[in-house]
Formats: sequence, structure tokens, C-alpha cells
Amino acid sequence: MAGGVGHTAVVTDRALSPHTVAVAAGRDPSAQAMLNPPIALGSNFRLTAETDHLPNYSRNDGTVTWQAFEEALGLLEGGQAIAFSSGMAAVTAVLEQLPTGAVVVVPTTSYVGVRQQLAEREQRGRVTVRPVDATDTDAVVAALEGASLLWLESPSNPTIDLTDLPAVLAASRVLGVPSVVDSTFATPVLQHPLAMGADVVLHSVTKFIGGHSDLLMGALVAEGEWYERLLATRGLYGAVPGALEVYLALRGLRTLPLRVERASNNAQELAKRLYHHPAVRRVRYPGLRTDPWHRRAQAQMIGFGPMLSFDLADGDAADRACARVRLVVHATSLGGVETTMERRNKYPSEAHVDAGLIRMSVGIEDVDDLWDDLQAALEP
Ligand SMILES: *Cc1c(COP(=O)(O)O)cnc(C)c1O
Repeated sequence: MAGGVGHTAVVTDRALSPHTVAVAAGRDPSAQAMLNPPIALGSNFRLTAETDHLPNYSRNDGTVTWQAFEEALGLLEGGQAIAFSSGMAAVTAVLEQLPTGAVVVVPTTSYVGVRQQLAEREQRGRVTVRPVDATDTDAVVAALEGASLLWLESPSNPTIDLTDLPAVLAASRVLGVPSVVDSTFATPVLQHPLAMGADVVLHSVTKFIGGHSDLLMGALVAEGEWYERLLATRGLYGAVPGALEVYLALRGLRTLPLRVERASNNAQELAKRLYHHPAVRRVRYPGLRTDPWHRRAQAQMIGFGPMLSFDLADGDAADRACARVRLVVHATSLGGVETTMERRNKYPSEAHVDAGLIRMSVGIEDVDDLWDDLQAALEP
């Protein structure tokens, strides 16, 4: 937690349910305090004889609004959280830790922005990218030789593949290769990579944590030296979040476990119905017993989550379905209360994804209403 603005944790017991932590954490326990932190707009703090340097300047030392959000997210994830202006700003803060020439092991399918930023850094001679099929544990472990960083994303965007996190993170520990897990699709409710041996967890707060498609933010969660370095990097490089965004993100986080539970139940049901639909070639959802990553998910996740993908015959069929949905929103991004879907291969940067693959971020609507809409959109 940044700064010393007088904020105290209400909840320190991680054995509490995430439903409870999400509601109770990050509140000022002092007498007469407002239940919610103010939207603190401010750059600098008055100095006194007792506190002659901290807090001093909010870019470095944080605000009560940031602190409340960071405390709640840190407790949910099991580390210390740092809020950033976007998920990509959080990505940048991690990659800025690397020395010139560093080898970065990165999954062949993962969030497009991460792959693009790494490609650009490689073009400028700053890093060497070593792509690997992150579902293949032996391949990942072999790729760690001489690497400076292991980048993971599980479940992955947009193919919903899972890495064997306990196995791969244990290997990276033994070999002394630091690791980052982009846990955006799992949220802090369904997976705890720090407890499995990761050094840093990354979230695009824009997605499920914010939860209402109304803000851009990112976060890193770490401990000890990694936390200190990343916090210093946020201050020095300046990718700090806005006060309103952090306030909204905390408001979103209060219902995160509830939304994830509801949306995951919807996703499980939709995955099952899509699996039996004649127009659907393949459903990618770890909650299905037929999914290649079902056992992995059972071993390392607390639930199967709200993200699924499904494949139609080809790009045209997928475009047609996206154009026809009326309740489901045809839109990019994910993690809102509303169900969205999109054909990913239409982007040149996603050319490696199957042409008919539709990524769906399942929301909290009634599942039968969603299914009626989907069924109509999938008519021949
Ligand atoms: C969206 C996303 C990001 C980037 O986050 P922004 O908030 O859009 O900058 C990173 N990783 C994953 C998995 C994402 O879905």
C-alpha cells in the first residue's frame, strides 16, 4: 500500500470468504468515517514537523482512494496491489524491469497487446522474445533456460487454454526465472497465482474487477522486493490511475465475487447448450468435462469462470452470428455485467486464431434470455 494517509485495514484475515473481503476491505474504520473513501482529487499534501516528507506527492505516495482499492484487491489476491492507469500500463511497468537483451518466454496465444509490446521491444533490440506453447509444460520448462522472465496468461485470451500453473511456476522458481501471471480471465476470485509461486499477478481492472465497461485501469499484485520495485516504477514512469476510475473500480470490486459466481454459472450452462448445438464445431470452456483443460482447472482454479469461446464453421458464419445477436452485445473487450461476443480472427493481429472462433464474455443476465438470443443468431 502506498503512502501513509491514515488508512487502516478492517479485514486482515484471509480465511474470510472473498464475498466478505470484497465488501469489507478498504474501509476507513475511524469514528464518523464515511463508509466509502472520497474521490480524492489532489496532487500534494501539507507537510508538518512530524511528517516532514510522507505523504508528499500523490504520484509517488498515493491517495486515500487508491489505498482503499489497493487494500481490497491485495487482500483478495493475497499480496500487495498497485493500481495503474490501464492493464497495458501495468504490463509496461513489469517489462521495464528487464535489462537490455533479456530473454522473455511468452505464450504463443495470449493477450494481443502484450505480444505487440514485446514485438516492438524486440524490434528495438531491447528484449528477445521466446514464444512457447504454454499448455505444454515440458516446452515451457525447456524454454526457461537462460530466460529473464516467464510471462503467463491462464486462462488465455482468446482460446481459453490453461497452463499448468503449479508445475510451471515451481520450475521457474527452481531455475530462478521470475514469473508474471496475467490473471485477468480468472479474476482474484477464481485463482491465486502468488500462492502457486508467481512473483507478480497482473489484472486488466478494465475487465471483471471494474465490471461495468465504464473505466480503464490495471493492477499488479506482488510482495517484498517486486512490490517495492513496481511501486517505484509506477511513480517514476507516471502511469497512475485517475481518482474517479479508482473509485469506480472499488465500487465494482465490491460485487466482483457475486458477479463472477453468477456469470460463471451462466457460462457453464451456455457452454453445455452450445456444445450440443449443430452449428457449433467446438466449445472452449474448462467447465466442460470434454475440455482438454478440465482437470487442470479443477486443480488450480476455484471455478471455471465467465469466459468461453466457440467455433462456427468459418469466418462468415461467425460474422453472421455476431451481426444477428440483439441482447448479447457485439463488442470487443470483456468483463462487464453485459454479455459480449466478438470474432477475434477479424483482427490482423489475431490471424493465428481459427477464423470461426467467437470469444464470449458471459454476463449476469438471465441464462434463458441469453440462450434464446444466441439460438436465433445461430439459425442457418
Ligand atoms: C484487456 C486485457 C489486457 C490489457 O488491459 P487494458 O486495461 O485494456 O490496458 C491485458 N491482458 C488481458 C488478458 C486483457 O484481456
